[in-house]
Amino acid sequence: MTAELRSMTEFDVTAVRRQFPILEREVNGKPLVYLDSAASAQKPEAVIEAVADVWRHSYANVHRGLHTLANEATEAFEASRGKLAKFLGAASADQIVFTKGATEAINLVADSFGATLQEGDEIIVSQMEHHSNIVPWHFLRERKGVVLKWAPVTDEGALDMEAFDALVTERTKLVAITHMSNVLGTISPIEAIVEKAHAVGAAVLVDGSQGAVHMPVDMAELGCDFYVVTGHKLYGPNGAGALYAAGDWLDRLRPYQGGGEMIAEVREDGVVYADVPHKFEAGTPVIAEVIGLGAAIDWLSGLDRIALMEHERQLMDRFEAGLADFEGAHILGRTQDKGAITSFGLAGAHPHDLAQLMDKYGVAVRAGHHCAHPLMQRFGVVGTLRASFAAYNTQADVDAALDALRKAKSFLI
Ligand SMILES: *Cc1c(COP(=O)(O)O)cnc(C)c1O
Repeated sequence: MTAELRSMTEFDVTAVRRQFPILEREVNGKPLVYLDSAASAQKPEAVIEAVADVWRHSYANVHRGLHTLANEATEAFEASRGKLAKFLGAASADQIVFTKGATEAINLVADSFGATLQEGDEIIVSQMEHHSNIVPWHFLRERKGVVLKWAPVTDEGALDMEAFDALVTERTKLVAITHMSNVLGTISPIEAIVEKAHAVGAAVLVDGSQGAVHMPVDMAELGCDFYVVTGHKLYGPNGAGALYAAGDWLDRLRPYQGGGEMIAEVREDGVVYADVPHKFEAGTPVIAEVIGLGAAIDWLSGLDRIALMEHERQLMDRFEAGLADFEGAHILGRTQDKGAITSFGLAGAHPHDLAQLMDKYGVAVRAGHHCAHPLMQRFGVVGTLRASFAAYNTQADVDAALDALRKAKSFLI
C-alpha cells in the first residue's frame, strides 16, 4: 500500500469506541482516558458477550464429554485454537498450546526446552525484556548453570545488532527476545535474529505480548521456534494466552505440568502422554476465557490492521510532539517505526506522583519500572511514565492526557 493510499484509509475510531462499554464511564468526574492498554486492554462487547454466553448457555468441562453441553464447550474451545493458529499464521492448530498468559507460556518453554540444556549452555536475552522473559531463564542459570548473555540496547532504544552478533556462539542454545518492547515500543528485527541463531543451531523464542497486538504477525515469515501471546492485551479476557511452537518442537519436548487431560494412559508403572498439543495442557483449562480469546481474535482480525497501526502511530506522534513543549521532558525509545508506546519522564517530578495527579483528571497512564528492571538500570532511571495507544484511543484522549500532565506538573515543579 502506498503512503497516500494508507493515509486515505479511514480508521473509524468512533465505531470502535462504541463497542467498548467501559469507555462510557467517568473517572473522578471526568471522561475516562485510558492510555494503559500495554498493561491490559479493555474488552469489546463481542468478547464480553462471548464469555457471558458460555456461562449462560453452553458451559461444561471440555474434552471427553459425552453430553451436549460438553460437546458444545469443547467445539468452541477448539475453535479458538484454530483462530489463534490462523491469526499467527501457524501451519496447524496443533502448534498452539493454551496457557494462562505469556508468563506461563515462557515458563513452559523454560521448563520443557530447558530440560534439554546443560551447564555452560548459553541463552541470549536482551536488555529490554519484560521480567517474564528474564526470570524463567535465571531459574535455568540458578538450577542448571546455564549462562545468560545480555544483548544491549542503544541510547535510541534499538537492539544493538552488532553486539548481538558477537554474543552468538556455538554454545548458544536459545535466543529469548521481545517482538516489541513494552517500555520503548522498539520492534526487534526477528527475521535477522532467527537467521543468526539458526546458523549455530540455536532456537528462538519471541515474546509477542505486545508485537501481536500492534502488528499483523506471520510465523512462516518470522521463522521463530516459539512465539507467545497473552489474551488480555489482545482485547481478550485475562487468564488465557498461548504458546506457538514451530515444526515438531512440541513432540520433541517433555511435558510441563502433569495431571488430567494431558495423558493417554496412566498405569501404576508409567504414563503415556496425550498427543500434542494436549500433552501440554494439564488440568481443566480456563474455558470461557479461551473462548473469549477466540472472540477477541475475530474482533481484532475484523479491523484493518494496517489502518489500525497508522491510527495508533498518529496518536503516538501527536503525544510525542506535545511532550516536546514540556521543559525537562525526555522520551525513552526513539527508534523509527516503533510501536505505539511512549515512555517518558519530566525532570524534577517522580513518575508516580505525575501518574496519580493525572488520574485526578480521568487519565490512566502507567508509571514505574514496567517489569523491566534491567532496562531501567541500562538507562539509569528508577522508572518512567508510559502512555500506550490502542484501537479505541482518540486525538482528544491525547490532548486530554497532555493537558492533565501540564496540570500535574504545575503542582509538582
Ligand atoms: C505483559 C507482558 C508480558 C507478560 O504477560 P502476562 O499476561 O502477564 O503473562 C510479557 N512480556 C511483555 C512484553 C509484556 O508486555
